[in-house]
Amino acid sequence: MCSERRKFVVILALFFSTFAFSLTICIDPGHQKEADLTLEPIAPGSETTKARVSTGTRGSSTGIPEYVFNLEFSFMLRDRLLQEGYEVVMTRDSHDVNISNVERAKIANEANADLCIRVHADYSSDSSLKGFMLLIPSETSAQSPLIYSDSKKAAEKIMASLLQIDGIDSLGIRPRDDITGFNWSEVPVLIFEAGFMSNPEEDVLLSTRDYREKLVEALVTGIEDYFLTK
Ligand SMILES: [Zn+2]
Repeated sequence: MCSERRKFVVILALFFSTFAFSLTICIDPGHQKEADLTLEPIAPGSETTKARVSTGTRGSSTGIPEYVFNLEFSFMLRDRLLQEGYEVVMTRDSHDVNISNVERAKIANEANADLCIRVHADYSSDSSLKGFMLLIPSETSAQSPLIYSDSKKAAEKIMASLLQIDGIDSLGIRPRDDITGFNWSEVPVLIFEAGFMSNPEEDVLLSTRDYREKLVEALVTGIEDYFLTK
C-alpha cells in the first residue's frame, strides 16, 4: 500500500474507533461549593420540591468537603474512561458553580448519555456505618421501564466489580423514588455513594489515592461489563 493510501486507512480506522462507536458517559460530581436551597420540582410536573443543590457532607477525620471529594474522584474516573475510548461529559469541572439537580439531569439528557454516573460520599449519624452503596431510580419513578432496567443492570455489574476489592463493605443497590436527578433523567443513571465520610476510618481511606484508584478501576470494569452484556 502506498504511504498516502495507508495514511488514509489509518485515519479512517482512527475515526471509526474514536467517534463512530463511542459510548457517552455523563459524570455528575455531586454538590458544589455553595449549596442552593431554593426549590425545584423533584420530578417533571410534580408539586413536591427539594433544594436545587444540597450542602453535602464533610470528612469527619479529614475535613474534606464532599463536593471536593466528588470532583477529584470524578476527574480520575473521567480520565480512565477517556483512556478506554469513551466520550465523557461532566456536569461540572469546578466547585464555584450553581447547577441544580434538574439542570444536571438535563445535561446528561442533552448529551444523550448512554449512562450517567453521579458521584457522592455518604453521611450517617451512626459513625460506625461504612461501605459503598449504589442508588438507582425505582421501577415506578424511572421515566421508562428501560431506564429502570438498564440502570439496575449497570448497578449490578458495577457492584460485582466493586466487590472484588479486598475488604470492601457493600450496602447494596437501593432503588429510590425521591431523587431529583433520577426523576428527571431520560438516560440510565445511578449514584455511586463511595463510602461514609462520617465514619472516621472510611473517611481517611476515601482520601487516599490508592483506594480511589481501586474504586475507579472497579467502576470502569463494571461499566465495561455492562456495555458488553447489554
Ligand atoms: Zn452527596
